[in-house]
Amino acid sequence: MDDLRELYQEVILDHNQNPQNFGRLESHTHSGDGYNPLCGDKLSLTLEVENDEVKDIHFDGSGCAISKASASIMTTVIKGKTVSEAESLFDSFRELVTTGKSNRNNLGKLVVMAGVHKYPVRVKCATLAWHTLKNCLSGSSEVAKTE
Ligand code: ZN
Repeated sequence: MDDLRELYQEVILDHNQNPQNFGRLESHTHSGDGYNPLCGDKLSLTLEVENDEVKDIHFDGSGCAISKASASIMTTVIKGKTVSEAESLFDSFRELVTTGKSNRNNLGKLVVMAGVHKYPVRVKCATLAWHTLKNCLSGSSEVAKTE
């Protein structure tokens, strides 16, 4: 029970109930979809990238609390970052949710997701938004998978 409480801590519940940057950007330069077949999480991202900077990012979709909260937190962190900073955060975040820690110190509020590493199935929920982001930024039109 303690582990579950740790995982579904307040910040995650709050982002699930009040997702940030939810919806679709009317005007966008990048878009992409992600799907996590293990849990059924689906999400779409729209991004406005200008001069190598993510000016705006929105997400849309349906999924479990972890996938939604992770996407919501990701959008708040990615906005204003350069494309290479976003890619570097992807690596840090994946390290965090698979090992429970990261030696990099660029994670900021993303550290609330650290508890996810105890639940391998949930790692895919937490990283879905990030895999989708990576696909978007690389210009891939494929649906991002968590495998
Ligand atoms: Zn999920």
